Amino acid sequence: MIHEVLAVGPLQCNCSILGDEVSREAIVVDPGDELPRILHLLAKHQLTVKQIVVTHAHIDHIAGAHRLREITGAPILYNQRDLPLVAMMDQQAAWIGCATPTVSGPDESLEDGVVVGVANLAAEVIHTPGHTEGSLCLYVPEHHLLLAGDTLFAGSIGRTDLPGGSTGKLLASIRDRLLPLPDGTLVIPGHGESTTIGVERRSNPFLQSL
Ligand SMILES: [Zn+2]
Repeated sequence: MIHEVLAVGPLQCNCSILGDEVSREAIVVDPGDELPRILHLLAKHQLTVKQIVVTHAHIDHIAGAHRLREITGAPILYNQRDLPLVAMMDQQAAWIGCATPTVSGPDESLEDGVVVGVANLAAEVIHTPGHTEGSLCLYVPEHHLLLAGDTLFAGSIGRTDLPGGSTGKLLASIRDRLLPLPDGTLVIPGHGESTTIGVERRSNPFLQSL
């Protein structure tokens, strides 16, 4: 599997490109900004985008998705419970002081248990409400990889003070859906350094009482 992670935009959202070496098909996860860099990496690996997956509809994760769909024709996939956040994109833009991007609803809503992916690359959708109602993680079991969005960070957890946030739901999502994954699972959070499920289970201060 080809896996590129690039931190994009003023909030340095971790955008992932997951590609299959044989078919040269790819998924782009959280194209929040800096489309030229994303397109450059896709071209470098000769990858064709088949799906655009958004872990949740915060501006720093979704802002480039509409434009990437225009360029590639790939559908945008995320959970419809985040549509209220799409409806307030102008407010989200005001939070970080940028222009309001054009943002589309999902071409298909990603529900828990759905498998997305391309040839030889299957990623399971884990619905993890808490940071937002529609937040999801993508689990690629064959490659022991979790793209965690803003649910779980290295040594921290997602903020829950924004509209739709719930600390109780966030902790339950992590306890019931993420901590049962194998210790060696590599976690790429929505921002910051990577980690593993085992390290977070042992040392993340927010999880010790779970
Ligand atoms: Zn977020």
